[in-house]
Amino acid sequence: MEEIRIPALLDAHVHLRQGRLLTAVAPYTERCCSAAVLMPNTDPPLDTPERLEAYQAEVRGHFKHCQPLWTFKLTEKTSLADVVHFKKLGCVAAKLYPEGVTTNSAGGISLDVLGNVGKGRDMPLDRTLQSLCDYSIVLSCHGELPGLFCLDREAGFLYHLGRIMHRFAALRVVLEHISTRKAAEFVTLRGYANRLAATITAHHLLLTLDDVLGDKLAPHHFCKPVAKRPDDREALWELVLQGHPNVFLGSDSAPHLRGDKECAAGCAGVFTAPVLPEVLFELFEQRQALDLIPRFTSQNAQRFYGLTPSERTITVLRHGWTVPKECAGVVPFRSGDVLSWRLVTPA
Ligand SMILES: [Zn+2]
Repeated sequence: MEEIRIPALLDAHVHLRQGRLLTAVAPYTERCCSAAVLMPNTDPPLDTPERLEAYQAEVRGHFKHCQPLWTFKLTEKTSLADVVHFKKLGCVAAKLYPEGVTTNSAGGISLDVLGNVGKGRDMPLDRTLQSLCDYSIVLSCHGELPGLFCLDREAGFLYHLGRIMHRFAALRVVLEHISTRKAAEFVTLRGYANRLAATITAHHLLLTLDDVLGDKLAPHHFCKPVAKRPDDREALWELVLQGHPNVFLGSDSAPHLRGDKECAAGCAGVFTAPVLPEVLFELFEQRQALDLIPRFTSQNAQRFYGLTPSERTITVLRHGWTVPKECAGVVPFRSGDVLSWRLVTPA
């Protein structure tokens, strides 16, 4: 049977949640990743060093082979002392959520404050962004501007990101889960060469808006940013297939219990962790690009985040299997579908 061994994945953007859900979903990341950048929009969010320390204590026991990489949520109250403390706690990135843009993003950065960055006034966010430069912490952005028409929110954020990057020339930024041609083009702007990266999810490499609402409403395909036009999806593939050095996997795997997705006001998030390597192999094989997988799934992110490459490898077998209808009360991506590759679970 055909099998392929690659370096274990570095998932540069994943939501592990807390409590019972954390216990249920962490093994999916542990099984295939050498490291994972854990997002801070827990409830309450990881916006103080004390909350992060408590979360670290909760998460650590779930991982043996996968190294958790910590982040904190940037707020208008984040102080220089907080940044120093977060750095000591091992944070690699500070997450910027424009206020109200996605799950648990209340208390993020308001449009007023975002709009005033770099305008020459001594604003608290300016000081915080400078401290990220000083302490080599990456700014991780949920790049959507609330209030705009939903398909235009990502493009709307790029204007603000451009100003931030212009004002803070030493700032290193990851634009998370890009979903549009405009964002893909922004990432390739030459002026930003080594200090702007982008994550791409597995589901944005597969879905378009048609898969969310083109036929019947598919709540388990609904995420933010929502999947867009076929041309936008192609733009993401163009970045991946050229092996762009600053473009890498961030699954944005975001579990919500079935009832929170299948209801009148369903939550945003696609739960890809249970099928992540398998779906990526299928998609890359369709593009005749299996050889590009390690670059996209681990090496580029390792380099951007300055991490020592892990020695952990994973093996994927060509072996058809059916994705379960439900994992721990959550409907996984590709639920009920037959996939042609399967991760060999280590003994
Ligand atoms: Zn996310």
